[in-house]
Amino acid sequence: MHINQRFDGGNIVCLDASDPSAVQLQIRSDVGDEHKQWFYFQVLDARDQACRFDITNAGEVSYPNAFHDYQAVASYDREFWFRVPTRYDGQTLTIEHSPETDSIYYAYFAPYSFERHQQLIAATLVSPRVQADTLCITPDGHPLTRLTIGEPASGKKVCWVIGRQHPGETMAEWWMEGFLERLLDEQDSLSRQLLEHCVFHVVPNMNPDGSVRGHLRCNAHGRNLNREWLEPSKAFSPEVYFVREAMAKTGVDLCLDVHGDEELPYNFIAGAEGIPAWNTHMAEQLNTFKSVLQTVCPDFQTEAGYPVAEPGKANLTLCTAYVAEHHQCLAMTLEMPFKDTTTTPMPTTGWSPDRCQRLGAANLDAMWQVLPLL
Ligand SMILES: [Zn+2]
Repeated sequence: MHINQRFDGGNIVCLDASDPSAVQLQIRSDVGDEHKQWFYFQVLDARDQACRFDITNAGEVSYPNAFHDYQAVASYDREFWFRVPTRYDGQTLTIEHSPETDSIYYAYFAPYSFERHQQLIAATLVSPRVQADTLCITPDGHPLTRLTIGEPASGKKVCWVIGRQHPGETMAEWWMEGFLERLLDEQDSLSRQLLEHCVFHVVPNMNPDGSVRGHLRCNAHGRNLNREWLEPSKAFSPEVYFVREAMAKTGVDLCLDVHGDEELPYNFIAGAEGIPAWNTHMAEQLNTFKSVLQTVCPDFQTEAGYPVAEPGKANLTLCTAYVAEHHQCLAMTLEMPFKDTTTTPMPTTGWSPDRCQRLGAANLDAMWQVLPLL
């Protein structure tokens, strides 16, 4: 048996694979050593063997409690990802599974490769409604791509949608696929109408370096991009620096920042409550958006989520709080689960790429309904 992680997004350290029934593995830290949790590895030459993979540093990751009630995902073809029996004792995460073929992949969540990202950009550019530009070249040399959808014109609302500031939250880019596919569907009257009234600026992957490196939260310089919005560094967090600069040029009427949450088994939205500029109009915008999304997509709910910040206590280093305060607009953080949703569960796959895509498409309904309030 062999363990391989030498591919886009791969992350595992193999300590001992001499006994398939007691393989010893560890998760490698992001640059900067502050974070780790994402794992993604291939198992070779173990067909029909009863394998046990022990990730022995699972109790030392960024969110150790998140591994309770969690099932890892596996795939033979890297297209269909299913859940496999997984248990956790507070220190070691144990996956027990017998591969049916000579090669299988295991991961924290369905991975989203940089090749697929490039394909997504290429596919959207087929539409005459889409333009792409490169906001910067990242420290590792990847283009940071912004898609502009719809003709800019005076009076149009400006919507920014960004994802994967935290690279291990691959659900954010699966969400982008569903969102973009519906937005560019010329047969979809809602999308056509939205584009009459809005221009969309979309950054499907804010952190390509961390994505390729197999990081959970940080970029190539060890920076957590969603803590950089107040004072981004051109040298160390250029991804945020240049997106912020582009936002300053376009203005912002709505900003949606798409994430995944390691612990909570729900889809939910965190708003910008707690910023100095918070007011009843912002609250009405936020509540309208959430309530429409809940109506059109039962996978989304509004009961559970993060505690709401007290007045004046918002963390302005976060994208949502910074953008809401600076642009005096509706800004939101959408969180999806690594596990599954509790009220609409699908045990075979858990929360999955297909479900992310459908939630992404459903967000356009909420944008359409909130438009008169922007
Ligand atoms: Zn996140």
